This record gives sequence, C-alpha cells and structure tokens, in this order.
Amino acid sequence: MKVGVLALQGAFREHENILAACGVEAEQIRKPQQLDKISSLIIPGGESTTIGKLLNEFRLFEPIVKMGREGLPIFGTCAGLIMLAREIEGSTQPRLGLMDIRVERNAFGRQVDSFEAGLDITAIGGQPFRAVFIRAPYIIETGSDVEVLATFREKIVLARQGRFLAAAFHPELTGDLRIHKYFLEKCVQNDTDKK
Ligand code: GLN
Repeated sequence: MKVGVLALQGAFREHENILAACGVEAEQIRKPQQLDKISSLIIPGGESTTIGKLLNEFRLFEPIVKMGREGLPIFGTCAGLIMLAREIEGSTQPRLGLMDIRVERNAFGRQVDSFEAGLDITAIGGQPFRAVFIRAPYIIETGSDVEVLATFREKIVLARQGRFLAAAFHPELTGDLRIHKYFLEKCVQNDTDKK
C-alpha cells in the first residue's frame, strides 16, 4: 500500500515523515503516470491557488478528479481541504470538487496568521489533538454524507465523506500520528476491504 503525497508545493515532506512513522511507504507525486502506483493520496497545505495552477500545469488535475470519483481515498490538509471542496466562498479558483463541503479561505482572520489549539476528536480518541492552524480555512457548510469530526470555536475543522478526509489544520506538523492513522484505517483500509 503506497500513499502518494502531492509534491508540487507546500508541506509535503512533513506528511512523508508522518507516513514513515506510521510504517507506510510514500511517494512524492509530480507526474500523472505515478498515480497508477498509489492506493491513496494526500494533498498538503500550501497555497490553494498555486496548487490548483500547478495541478493543471503538471497535467494532474483531471486524472486526480477522475480517480477520486472512481474511489481513490484522498486526505486534504489546509490548502488540500480547499482543493477538495465543492464550493469556495467568493472564489472561482480551480478545485477538485470531490467533497460536498463549502469552505472559506483564511477564515480565522488575517491578524492571527497562525495559532495552536487542542481539539477534542472522539473519532481518534485519547488526549486532545494539538492542532496547528496556519492561515487556515474552515468548513461553512456540509452535505448530508459528510461527517463532522472536529470543530473549533464552533467552526468545522475536520470532516470525512466516505474515503475523503479534510483537515483545516496541519496534522503533519506535531508528530501525532492519530489523524493519519485514522485516514489509513478508515478511509483507505475500509475502502480496500470493500473491493
Ligand atoms: N491560506 C491558504 C490557502 O488559502 C491555506 C494555508 C495553508 O495551507 N496553510 O490556500
């Protein structure tokens, strides 16, 4: 089971490190032909407009949309969450549109660029998850198939829709493996079981 980590821009190395700590093989994805080798994909944080532009330039945009629709599990963090969204408040920027969520970019205010918070996440259990938010989006609205997994100040910051998982924060930065493990166990493993 190889996990692809989209490596066009942003925090992809940190995801690779967490995957290594989970005992899972990862591959940096920059070419469409590499997509054949992976059983799931992580879209890291960075800048969503840049990631959208680069996905087109590297001819990865359409194949990822197609594979996502056909069953590829995808985990998007921060800008990756924005890429997964069906709707981006006040913006027509390119997005994969695979999750039935409406999101707002830079939603926690520009004055506080980044902050940390402890999140209670029942789905992963244990201690609160130390979440790092960096110019973070949040989810304004979810479709009926979307499960809300965590909120912060009453805003949705972690959600799952079947094999898709979206986090508004950066779970790859704190060394806590629980959310990556959740993705691997619930979105990837379960999905493979069904096939
Ligand atoms: N603000 C960025 C965007 O809108 C996301 C920030 C991040 O990924 N840390 O794309």
